Amino acid sequence: MPLISLVVPAYNEEEVLEAFHREVSEEIDRLPDDFEFVFVDDGSRDQTASVMRQLAARDSRVRAVILSRNFGHEAAIEAGLRAARGDAVIVMDADLQDGPEIIPRLIGAWRDGADVVYAVRKGRKEGRLLRAAFSGFYGLASRVMSIDLPRDAGPFSLMDRQVVDVINDLPEKGRYFPGLRAFAGFRQVPVEAERRERAAGETKYSLVKRTLGGTNAIFSFSKLPLRLMTFMGFLMTVLAVAGLIWVIIGAIFGTGTAQGWTSMMTVMFFLAAFIFTFLGILGEYVGKIYDEVRARPNYVVAEEIGPEDPSR
Ligand code: UDP
Ligand code: MG
Repeated sequence: MPLISLVVPAYNEEEVLEAFHREVSEEIDRLPDDFEFVFVDDGSRDQTASVMRQLAARDSRVRAVILSRNFGHEAAIEAGLRAARGDAVIVMDADLQDGPEIIPRLIGAWRDGADVVYAVRKGRKEGRLLRAAFSGFYGLASRVMSIDLPRDAGPFSLMDRQVVDVINDLPEKGRYFPGLRAFAGFRQVPVEAERRERAAGETKYSLVKRTLGGTNAIFSFSKLPLRLMTFMGFLMTVLAVAGLIWVIIGAIFGTGTAQGWTSMMTVMFFLAAFIFTFLGILGEYVGKIYDEVRARPNYVVAEEIGPEDPSR
């Protein structure tokens, strides 16, 4: 029977982890496949790690990777994907927002030949402002990204071993998992899934964190912001030439040279605004290059819990 890994990043999730394990077990016990849980403790400050230890003591399918501090959701997913040994790997949140009842459908689509089965969030439970922000993000993403990013598809998905290997082999440090998954290609199939309310605890994402994440996703998969600079450069050149002609004509015929403080100031303000915006954009990419060149690992493993790999 194929082995299926469940990669579960968790940060301060002591309240839900037991319930997560129970609900998912109920679901997978009905399936013929072998399963392993790969919990990733992303430097939780609560008892998440010890709950993982207890689960591993009780259930031989449970393994856990304990990170040395909080490295963020993306890094935790990366750590889990590298630790997973399954023929297929499912990534899902620990808070039960990704419903365990979807698991059989993910596996079914995989059996039917799909290499990537991703859950598309139907009926978001977030507030109106956040929903509008998400909608804006996916609208922009579909226009500027170099990959086809499916709308409303978060990390919750199943990937075939082939795809997991492709993602694990990518050398890049800047990671946006749904983007990398789309980049990998192969046969990708959506599955509609109702997104539940959080079972307990609260979201670990502030609006600021989400905005930074969204920005990172765009800049990771698009050169359009850079091209925008070139385009603005062209436009400015055309305007400058027109302005120059205007000034020369004015000088020759002695009209319209002395006045123009208002228009002058307007041009200066806009110019300054453009320059700073584009310096900022340049900075984004320079920062990304710096991260890549420095090549620091995205996470540090403090401890691994659970059975050793029998094949090693
Ligand atoms: N998470 C993580 N590290 C972090 C933040 C979150 O591993 O720094 C995990 C968290 O425990 C959960 C998943 O990522 O399993 C999604 O986080 P959350 O539920 O807070 O986000 P939301 O569902 O509100 O978007
Ligand atoms: Mg959640």
